[in-house]
Amino acid sequence: MPTRGQSIFLFYLVAINIIFCCVDYKSHQPNSWYASSTQEIRSFVGNRTGALSLVNIALAVLYAGRNNVLISLTDWSHTTFLLLHRWVASIATLQACIHSAIYLYNYMESGEHATEAKLDYWVWGVIATLGMVFLLPTSILLVRQKFYELFLAWHVVLSFFIIIGSLLHIILRFSKQWGYELWMYIAFAFWGFDRIYRIVRISRNGVCKAHITIIDENYIRLDIPGITGEGQAYLYFPTLTWRVWENHPFSIAGGMLHDNTADNTVNQKTSVSSSASSAHASPTSDSDIEKAPALSVTPTKKPAVFTNIPKLGLSFIIRTHSGTTALLRQRSSLPVLVEAPYTGSILHPTHDTLNHHPRLLCIAGGVGITALLPLIAFHRGNRKLAWGVRHASLLEGMRDLTENNAMTGVVIETTVGRRMDVNALIEEEVSRADGSLAVVVSGPPGMADEVRLAVARVAARGCEIEFIEESYSW
Ligand SMILES: Cc1cc2nc3c(=O)[nH]c(=O)nc-3n(C[C@H](O)[C@H](O)[C@H](O)COP(=O)(O)OP(=O)(O)OC[C@H]3O[C@@H](n4cnc5c(N)ncnc54)[C@H](O)[C@@H]3O)c2cc1C
Repeated sequence: MPTRGQSIFLFYLVAINIIFCCVDYKSHQPNSWYASSTQEIRSFVGNRTGALSLVNIALAVLYAGRNNVLISLTDWSHTTFLLLHRWVASIATLQACIHSAIYLYNYMESGEHATEAKLDYWVWGVIATLGMVFLLPTSILLVRQKFYELFLAWHVVLSFFIIIGSLLHIILRFSKQWGYELWMYIAFAFWGFDRIYRIVRISRNGVCKAHITIIDENYIRLDIPGITGEGQAYLYFPTLTWRVWENHPFSIAGGMLHDNTADNTVNQKTSVSSSASSAHASPTSDSDIEKAPALSVTPTKKPAVFTNIPKLGLSFIIRTHSGTTALLRQRSSLPVLVEAPYTGSILHPTHDTLNHHPRLLCIAGGVGITALLPLIAFHRGNRKLAWGVRHASLLEGMRDLTENNAMTGVVIETTVGRRMDVNALIEEEVSRADGSLAVVVSGPPGMADEVRLAVARVAARGCEIEFIEESYSW
């Protein structure tokens, strides 16, 4: 579901396009171009929708880029812009279809279709419109989830043909008479800027080496010494597959590397609320998690004492799936290109967005914690982290990231192998709050919905509470 702010902007986008497509048409009859006022107005609508479609294509390209200047100007997240990208692209497609249908009708009506359809400008127009029509159904969530790399390649190739097709359609028809082709130059400029800036970001870090540690059957840890960054990074592993251009986004969980050999004596105080054997249960579904006996571990608030001096470097915690992340399991170290930093999110730790709330509650599910750690570390108020994991191995694999100097004073509540009671958690924090409370959630969509609902209930009672959801979605 889009947020309220996103919905308002989407409404604005749709409304302004409808208005621009509908207003200010005047018929002046008789004239030498159109036989009737109906044909005249219809053609004007065709021209207008065609022109607006070109504008929206350029906007769709801008919104899709991860180096979109609007991200820094507005502070909206890339995810928000991807949502806008999908809507603007759909509007552009609809406008292109209306434009094409009107001109098809006009030429059929005048009996000129057979000759017109042989002209190059017509053919390129058909290619551009059909490209847009094919692009929409092949970009739905299911396709993106099942065949991400295929979707991406197809999306880029088809988009290229759409822009080239539109450009040739205009130039061959009007010979740059009206300037419509400028929108396609602008689209190429947006696309080119994004690609060039990606290369700049990669070259700033150079070729790095990634060290991989297997945490358990679900997670790996990837450490890259010698570089720094925050927010998110796109990682390329050119020696992993033949698709050297393939890259994957991950949240930077930490910017300092310890060798994970902490002095455990200060860190043994954990309270276990159930049989320890449950930590080794392997729930395979949400319902299994629900059934599994509870094991709650609350580490001491005292930070671990690491015996080594931390080194500069990035840490990532990765949940392995069946693609590139699965291949990473088979390597212990490999070359990596790091396209970073990307910080255009409300959760950018240096943003003061949440610091006006004296109390912060972060709720993380599994690997979702990576997005929250920098935020908790930088918050100046009262901080609590509630973290639910399937297996205790993830807690251990991330110990240096959750228990270090930056996390001093953070109350950490971990839940292993079962669902967190988010209602109770939020109620407890609200009862303790002596001002406003910020609740940030990062985890599976079901969990985020549950937290959103619980916050909405509390807010309805008049509590001063802000809800922020961070999702690994696009
Ligand atoms: C902003 C952001 C931050 C993220 N941070 C983390 C993190 O810190 N830790 C973590 O474990 N995961 C994170 N993810 C998810 C991670 O990018 C994907 O799990 C990973 O790309 C899957 O790669 P795969 O080839 O193994 O996937 P596959 O097995 O091929 O597919 C598994 C799932 O991952 C999606 N996916 C595949 N490739 C990409 C891609 N290039 N971009 C986005 N999604 C993709 C697929 O659509 C599918 O739903 C993040 C995603 C985003 C968008």
